[in-house]
Amino acid sequence: MKFNRVIKFTLLTVVLITLGAVAAVVGVLMFGGPPMDSGSTLADGRVTLAVDRRGPVRIGAYVVELADGGYALVDTGMDPAAGEILSILEGRGASASDVRALFLTHAHGDHAGGMGAFPAATVYAMAADAEVLRTQGLVVQGLADGESIAVGGTVVEAFAMPGHTAGSAAYLVHGVLFLGDAAAATSESSLDSNDVAFTDDAARNRASLHALANRVGTRGDDLRLLAFGHQGPVQGLGPLLDLDGLTSNSPDTLAAALLSVSGVLADTKFGSLLYLDRERTASSLNFGDVLLEAVTDVQRLID
Ligand SMILES: [Zn+2]
Repeated sequence: MKFNRVIKFTLLTVVLITLGAVAAVVGVLMFGGPPMDSGSTLADGRVTLAVDRRGPVRIGAYVVELADGGYALVDTGMDPAAGEILSILEGRGASASDVRALFLTHAHGDHAGGMGAFPAATVYAMAADAEVLRTQGLVVQGLADGESIAVGGTVVEAFAMPGHTAGSAAYLVHGVLFLGDAAAATSESSLDSNDVAFTDDAARNRASLHALANRVGTRGDDLRLLAFGHQGPVQGLGPLLDLDGLTSNSPDTLAAALLSVSGVLADTKFGSLLYLDRERTASSLNFGDVLLEAVTDVQRLID
């Protein structure tokens, strides 16, 4: 009994210390990166942003209109039910069955989490990340660098961006270049290489950004917007072409990374800690859930 109380007290202390750190960076995040508003549209209304909000963490998925009236998605958020995406589709008189294809920027759970809500869609990811998802029993088509996919009369171009994950991708459709987590937008609308936020190989990611800039830099008017996994869009290609200004671990990104830890912990077993409760039966406490609740409260106060 006493032992349990000690464990609980220790857990609570750890949670409170972590909370303090999270609360401290909420302020930084408030001023960080362009705003990411669910339902906002890009590319003359042909792309709609669906934001899966986890406390202060914003996860972007993009609903892309196709020439035949159907839809494709770039990323799917973290919500297995894809609630926000479905409500945007509903608002357009469409449903999950109108989604023909999912283009995943990478296999992380906060971007691929909603794919199960679109059983009629063909799922695409760069080969290396497609393989990762297949080991989880998912059906995914592997893409090659530079491949163009025609879906519903619209062409989506895919670029390999190894670094954040081995099979990270950028996609270009309707003049929007979707970078996923290969970069973050800073509050000055420049790019940050997003090194802290679960990136496998930071140097490789930066090399991928430089290579992409060289490949698309001459396409001018074809490319009108940069879109990201966790920040709002940035107008024009400028920040991608001016990689001399590429920061690494800017305060925006550090804040986003620390905050996203709480979001990710909430949905993984990693965040759960088994302990024996008073009745000596196994219970689990999910740090992530506790953190997210508290961080959401903090944000409500700020809002
Ligand atoms: Zn990621």
